Amino acid sequence: MIASVTLADIQGAERRIAGKVLRTPTLVDPQIAGLFLKQEYRQTTGAFKLRGATNAVLSLSSADLGRGVVTASTGNHGRALAHAARAAGGRAVVCLSALVPSNKVQAIRDLGAEVRIIGQSQDEAMLEVARAVAQGMIEVPPFDHPAVIAGQGTLGLEILADSPAPAMVLIPLSGGGLAAGVATAIRALSPQTRLIGISMERGAAMDASLRAGRPVDVTELATLADSLGGGIGLQNRLTFNACRDLLDEVILMSEDEIAAGMRHIHAVTGDAVEGAAAVGVAAVLAGKVQITGPTVAILSGRNVAAPRFAEVLAGRL
Ligand SMILES: *Cc1c(COP(=O)(O)O)cnc(C)c1O
Repeated sequence: MIASVTLADIQGAERRIAGKVLRTPTLVDPQIAGLFLKQEYRQTTGAFKLRGATNAVLSLSSADLGRGVVTASTGNHGRALAHAARAAGGRAVVCLSALVPSNKVQAIRDLGAEVRIIGQSQDEAMLEVARAVAQGMIEVPPFDHPAVIAGQGTLGLEILADSPAPAMVLIPLSGGGLAAGVATAIRALSPQTRLIGISMERGAAMDASLRAGRPVDVTELATLADSLGGGIGLQNRLTFNACRDLLDEVILMSEDEIAAGMRHIHAVTGDAVEGAAAVGVAAVLAGKVQITGPTVAILSGRNVAAPRFAEVLAGRL
């Protein structure tokens, strides 16, 4: 039996990563009454994943950091781990599937990590991670890891600092590290808040798993919300249980709805965010959630290729 992440773990993570990650702002949506936009896409490396990666790297002994860290990632976690390792004076290897957009691959290389591109799926990239671990490296996975979950949970503490008892928090959901961390923090400190996980219709592994009552695989499909792609791991230890126990609901968004969310966020902030970051706003716009009190949407990342964002803005996607 593996203990789950606690509020104390998240508070410890907040102290550990203070000054190493940005505290991101919350914006009142000027067009939708009651909606608050947590602008986490302004985070260093462009996504919240820096929180978990930094907490995980800073939790290692100096001997383990010296062995180097390795991960498989759909992009943002790899970028975060590359940055966190370099900031701590360590080496990072990132294994990616060929589905990961080239702008994300280049960004990871620019951060000084070694990138290995393996196969067409997260599972194939994972085999390369296993080989690196067999050679002595330390794996820091993208979501199913206590220090990663605790780091992502610091986002929940920031949300409560800005909006003490929100009626609802809208959390982009893939492997569930963000949802597990944020939901653990908010459930402990604001038990009345509704916690909604939001994924895309095309290949939502956590949703399929929650419905099946156990971790299951789904086929990976191309989607605007590419950061929400990939499986949750058939041997999932932490995030499946956390999402099952802490989320009130999971909602799925169509590609058109996600595109509308991206356009709305651009209209009110002037910023380009990636599809994964827009799913909460998309759910509000589509009427799939009702705002009954202060509602916080987590805008989780900004790593979208410029040509793709231009097509979304032009209404061609
Ligand atoms: C990773 C990621 C998510 C989903 O986080 P999980 O912890 O895998 O559920 C959402 N948005 C962005 C931008 C991400 O990079």
